Amino acid sequence: RKGNVIITGASSGLGLATAKALAETGQWNVIMACRNFLKAERAAKSAGIPKENYKVMHLDLASLDSVRQFVDNFRRSGMPLDVLVCNAAVYLPTAKEPSFTADGFELSVGTNHLGHFLLARLLLDDVKQSDYSSKRLIIVGSITGNTNTLAGNVPPKANLGDLRGLVGGLNGLNSSSMIDGGEFDGAKAYKDSKVCNMLTMQEFHRRYHEETGVTFASLYPGCIAETGLFREHIPLFRLLFPPFQKYITKGYVSEEEAGKRLAQVVSDPNLAKSGVYWSWNKLSSTFENQLSQEASDAEKALKLWEISEKLVGLP
Ligand code: NDP
Repeated sequence: RKGNVIITGASSGLGLATAKALAETGQWNVIMACRNFLKAERAAKSAGIPKENYKVMHLDLASLDSVRQFVDNFRRSGMPLDVLVCNAAVYLPTAKEPSFTADGFELSVGTNHLGHFLLARLLLDDVKQSDYSSKRLIIVGSITGNTNTLAGNVPPKANLGDLRGLVGGLNGLNSSSMIDGGEFDGAKAYKDSKVCNMLTMQEFHRRYHEETGVTFASLYPGCIAETGLFREHIPLFRLLFPPFQKYITKGYVSEEEAGKRLAQVVSDPNLAKSGVYWSWNKLSSTFENQLSQEASDAEKALKLWEISEKLVGLP
């Protein structure tokens, strides 16, 4: 049978390119989990994704109710789930003030980490039950959260500190809207959320890989400088960022190439190892990359897991 894969945020950028790459093989049925149904349908059509190989389902990661509803709807469809890809993200580098999810969490960490944390925890049961040959749970990471890289050292740097803001609920009222308890900074909040994504993947691996056989993985697909992620940035940045990445850092990768990379992490039998943060070298070959000290801190991963459980209402 065809594999079934859920991709969050498949209405643009990396998620859309991955949906296309997988659907075109004819081996995958792609469930595009998107907050804007019409936009996703239009994006799928104009990308030319074969109709019989995808389905759009509504999911707003900035609402825990919506996440639970999505899981119910998916289960009602009766489809087995073979791979889950947590890809969606928001990035608000120019925001002066924090915005918040339906549940009152700062929007970047609320969407990119907490929404995905609840989704992945709930759907792990479904992935476990699948009889597919290689079941996977993938969380898209980023280099920007990795302070052991050049890009990860551009200020403001990711830093979760002692997680005091997260313990307080990231609500900007009786707690800070930042995980480390500091002043709001949109660019840092995004990087922090990506560190959370990478810590979560490793905690999943430690807790569940042996017992379930599920492969847990993260990746840095390269700098996809033209995606919607930079839509909130100032126009001059948006103009200069793609050539800067192409010619100066040489980290640039097209949406199409990045989509192929993530599709590889979904389906390539050679990438079935669990607990890995995949990257690609200049020749576009995969290698197991090192994470920064903070992004591989097992004690922090455990603490993050337990606080996140409380915030999203898991027992
Ligand atoms: P895009 O902005 O193009 O795509 C982000 C997707 O997330 C969109 O489909 C968007 O939906 C969706 N999304 C945002 N908020 C929500 C929400 N509340 N509920 C559901 N979906 C939501 O960015 P990219 O494709 O660049 O980013 C995809 C992933 O790649 C992210 O995890 C990002 O961190 C990562 N990444 C990107 C890099 C880059 O250089 N661009 C580099 C490294 C990692 P909508 O279409 O409705 O806005």
